Amino acid sequence: MYSKYFWRDPWIGNDILATRFPRLFALDSAKKGSVASHLASVGWFWEWRRSIRGGAEQEQLLHLLSLLSTVSISEGEDRWWWDYSTDGLYRVSSARSIIASFDYAPFTHQTDWCNSVPIKINIFVWRLKLHRLATLRNLESKDLSFDNSCCALCDVSEESHSHLFVRCDTSYQLWCKVGSWLDISIPIWNSVDDVWIWINSFSHNRNKKLIISVIAYSTIWNIWKLRNDIIFKEHKFRKSHVFDAIVVTGFNWLYARYHKSTLNWTEWLQNPLCSL
Ligand SMILES: [Zn+2]
Repeated sequence: MYSKYFWRDPWIGNDILATRFPRLFALDSAKKGSVASHLASVGWFWEWRRSIRGGAEQEQLLHLLSLLSTVSISEGEDRWWWDYSTDGLYRVSSARSIIASFDYAPFTHQTDWCNSVPIKINIFVWRLKLHRLATLRNLESKDLSFDNSCCALCDVSEESHSHLFVRCDTSYQLWCKVGSWLDISIPIWNSVDDVWIWINSFSHNRNKKLIISVIAYSTIWNIWKLRNDIIFKEHKFRKSHVFDAIVVTGFNWLYARYHKSTLNWTEWLQNPLCSL
């Protein structure tokens, strides 16, 4: 802190001294002076433009001197100091032990990583499971306000996770189209969490669960992209185009990862559950 600006850098506490002691700052002739330039061999000094008067000025001076008496300044280069070690040096191990000591709320959802979709999709789904996507309802809960907080897909209901991905008429029609393609019935879901329960109901058949997971992720991802295109690009959409995107995206994810030799595009178009 030796070379910091005495008045304008936050070197004691969070606030700068110029704001905490405005009358003294106004009187100091060396407003751009460093901490070192205000330090003499016998203590602190200032070149006031005139003598300090009683009242508020005197009071601020006493307060400033009392504050300065709590710090000790050493000569030499300024350096970073890590508060969580005795020698002030940063170590990853000490940062780790600090983080480990925090009391985190337990995760209610297992992190269920799907290796057949890109990492960004896994992260997106993980955030969705934690209900942390930037939906309008979530943004409003952080005191952001919007002229219209209705779902971009139907422009009727409030945009929450569950509404956008499963309860909205537009989304549900897309899910039903996916169901017809796979030749399975799609339940009426109340919340987006019901989708994860539905996927897990296929756990007895590994391949079937894998394909259904990938297509469910593709559906959710394309609904989110559609919502963003409508909001940010004022995109006019057709449900058939979104459904085509769901079909192609799911195929590309699987084809790019594990099933180049066995995955067949024609079979996929007919019914993916018969393609593996
Ligand atoms: Zn809607």
